[in-house]
Amino acid sequence: MSNCAIVGINWGDEGKGRMVDLLTENYDVVVRYQGGGNAGHTVINEYGKFALHLLPSGIFRPGVVNILGNGVALDPENLWMEMQEVIGQGVAISPENLKISERASILLPWHRDLDELEEQRLQDKQYGSTRQGIAPFYSDKYQKKTVMAGEFFYPEQLKKHLAELLEWKNLILTRVYGAKPYTMAMLEDWLADYCAKIKPYICDTGAFLQEAQAAGKNILFEAQLGALRDLDYGIYPYATSSNTTVAYAPIGSGLPSVKINDVVGVVKAYSTCVGAGPFVCEMFGDEAEALRKAGFEYGAKTGRPRRVGPVDIVATRYGVKVQAATAIALTKLDVLSYLDKIPVCTHYLLNGEQTDSFPFPAALHDAQPVIRYFDGWQCDISAVRCWEDLPQAAQEYVSFIEQQIGCPIKYISVGPERESIIIRDK
Ligand code: GDP
Repeated sequence: MSNCAIVGINWGDEGKGRMVDLLTENYDVVVRYQGGGNAGHTVINEYGKFALHLLPSGIFRPGVVNILGNGVALDPENLWMEMQEVIGQGVAISPENLKISERASILLPWHRDLDELEEQRLQDKQYGSTRQGIAPFYSDKYQKKTVMAGEFFYPEQLKKHLAELLEWKNLILTRVYGAKPYTMAMLEDWLADYCAKIKPYICDTGAFLQEAQAAGKNILFEAQLGALRDLDYGIYPYATSSNTTVAYAPIGSGLPSVKINDVVGVVKAYSTCVGAGPFVCEMFGDEAEALRKAGFEYGAKTGRPRRVGPVDIVATRYGVKVQAATAIALTKLDVLSYLDKIPVCTHYLLNGEQTDSFPFPAALHDAQPVIRYFDGWQCDISAVRCWEDLPQAAQEYVSFIEQQIGCPIKYISVGPERESIIIRDK
C-alpha cells in the first residue's frame, strides 16, 4: 500500500489537475481534502477538456473511488452543475465512484452573497476573491454556523438548525450590508433541489477510507491552490481560507491517522498568481503579455488574466519545505520554448541585502527580485518523452531549479495532454 499527496508549491494553478489525472492510474482512491469551487483544475484526456472545481480529478478513471472529504467547502449547487457537465461529456458518475463525506460542511446560498457584498464594500482594497463564498463559508464553519452534509438525513433537525442560522445571518445581511434577507421558503427550495440531488452520494467516507486502508488500497490526496495560499503558511491575508498544505490532508480527508509516503509538489516552469497581494517576481508590459499568451494564463474559474513572472526560487524553495515535498513535477516547460533568454528569480533584495529566505508577508511588499538569465532552447519540446532528448539548455534550466530548491524533479510536463510527460528515474 502506498499513499501520495499532490500539492501546489506556489500560488496555485501549477497544473496539479493534470498530475492527478496522470497518477491516478496507480491509485484506488482519490480524496479532495480542502477548498471549494474557487479554483479550477484543468484536465485534458480522452473525454475532452475539463475545468474541475470540486470533483476530484480521479473521476475520469474507471474503478477509482473519488471522495470529497470533510475539509472541503461543499457547495451543492456548484457540485451538481459540475457533475452534469462532466456526465454530459460521457464520464460515468454514480455513488459507486463519487462519495461525499457526511462530515463535509455545506456552503449555504448566502455565503456567495456575503463574499460579493464584502468585496463590493472593500472597493479598491479587494482581496480578489473568486466570489464563490469560500471565505464566509470557512469563517462560519469555524464559528459552527453552518450545517454538515449528513444532516440531510435528519430533515426535521436540519430545518430547525437552518432556521436558527437564518435568523442570525439575516441580521448580518440586512444590518451590516443593507442586503435582502433570506426566507425559510428559499432555503426549502434549495434543499429540495440541489441538496436532494447530491444526497445519494453522502455517506460515512471516514469508515470507507479506514476500510480501504486496511485492505491495502493506494490512496491519493489532492489539494487545491498552493503553499503560498495556505491560511497559516501563505501570504496572509492574500491567502485562501483553508490549509492547502499536505499537513492538513489527514484531517481534511477523513483519515486522521494516515501517514503519507510520497508528496509530489507541483511547480510551474514560470510563475503565475491570480488576484491581489505581493508577487515579488512579477513581470510587466510586453514581456508579461507574451508569457501570458504563450502559457494561456487566464483563470480557469474567472477567466481573469493571471499575473506572470519568472520561476521564483525563493518562493519555490519555501513552498517545497512547507509541503515536505519528496518529488517535484515541473509543468509547462514547453511554454518557455519561445524565449531566447529565460529569466529566473534567484534571490530577493530586502533592505539592501540579498536574501534566500522567503520573507514574512508584510515584508514582501518591500522585496525586489534578483534576476539571472539562462539560455533558451528555442525549439518545440512538446514531443520529448525522455530526459536525454531534452535540449541541453532545457536540461540546464531544470537542473538549476532542482539544485536550488533541494528536491528531485521527477516529472517534467511538456504539454497539457496526459501523455506529454517526461518521467525521470529519481
Ligand atoms: P491546477 O489548478 O494546479 O490544476 O492548474 P490549472 O488548471 O490552472 O492548470 C494549468 C493549465 O496548464 C491547464 O490549462 C493545463 O491544461 C495546462 N497545462 C498543464 N501542464 C501543462 C504543460 O506541461 N504544458 C502546457 N502547455 N500546458 C499545461
